[in-house]
Amino acid sequence: MVIVYLFFFGTLSTSTASASPKYSYKKKSNGWFKGNNRDSVILRNLPNDHISHYDLNKLEAQAANAKGNDGDVLILTPMSKFLPEYWDNLNKLTYDHNYISLGFIFPRTPEGDQALKQLEKAVKKTQGAKGKFKKITILRQDTASLASQKEKDRHALKVQKERRSMMSLARNSLLFSTIAPTTSWILWLDADIVETPVTLLQDLIAHKRPVLSANVYQRYTDENGKAAIRPYDFNNWVESEEGLKLASGMKEEDIIVEGYSEMATYRPLMAHFYDDKGSVAQEMALDGVGGGAVLVNADVHRDGAMFPPFPFYHLIETEGFAKMAKRLGYEVFGLPNYLVYHYNE
Ligand code: GDP
Ligand code: MN
Repeated sequence: MVIVYLFFFGTLSTSTASASPKYSYKKKSNGWFKGNNRDSVILRNLPNDHISHYDLNKLEAQAANAKGNDGDVLILTPMSKFLPEYWDNLNKLTYDHNYISLGFIFPRTPEGDQALKQLEKAVKKTQGAKGKFKKITILRQDTASLASQKEKDRHALKVQKERRSMMSLARNSLLFSTIAPTTSWILWLDADIVETPVTLLQDLIAHKRPVLSANVYQRYTDENGKAAIRPYDFNNWVESEEGLKLASGMKEEDIIVEGYSEMATYRPLMAHFYDDKGSVAQEMALDGVGGGAVLVNADVHRDGAMFPPFPFYHLIETEGFAKMAKRLGYEVFGLPNYLVYHYNE
């Protein structure tokens, strides 16, 4: 596929001239590109070579041939809280940082203000040192967000539709503001994923899947005071008969959210398929994904897969995204034995 950016200077059709149209393109083009405006700031500032051609097929091939990396990666994180452990983990990733861009979006809340300040401080330090990232984009949300982010409040079933819909808008605006023609892969990484293998990117990219989710677990201390792990994210699932039946009896605007006993779907959850003796490369096909640590081939997003802020087949946000990717013809997978760890509040 070839994308060409062009500026058209030609005169537009005159067929509308006599109709006194509401929006006169002719007038606009005369006023803007001709006469005194010919040398407007915008035109003067255009680089001489202002037509850029990107052959996405070639880009991918070049990327694969470049040594030590598989192309430009964009790591996207919606962030309501800054955790130093998240930042340290990110900095330790061994994929060449010259090929990694980062994007963040913060809610406009006091909590978001604080997190933003902390991130800015951390960014300054990282970008002034060896191992700095290619590019970092920081956005503030123009859309609403929940006031309370306490675990108990944000996980209440009745706030899920509103909360997840807000998260969708935040994720979409982050995605559409940062994806570049050169982006090969997008890693969605939540701000409270505090531990991953340092080879996270290489490991996930090696599967060459359109959408691939890691298994999100959590470290905790068990009743005997021993260090243990338990499943955290239940949004990586396989659709079930019961889930489909539940959806078919729902009102148009209703949604199913996974992980709530009030809404039993009996879907097989990837969180329960972890086998500590199994291969970390073991794949399983999924129908829904969470947002903890998901690698997406950038073409999937380019083709239009986003995070529906509205019920899409009775699913929203990351689960709706998986459904949309599948409707576009892409396969969705998870790695049950590949663990990453969520912060324990
Ligand atoms: P949970 O792990 O499913 O409970 O979800 P989280 O509350 O951890 O949210 C997922 C991700 O979105 C995390 O990276 C949060 O820091 C971030 N986040 C949560 N709420 C908001 C919000 O209102 N706006 C933005 N921009 N990010 C948020
Ligand atoms: Mn979380």
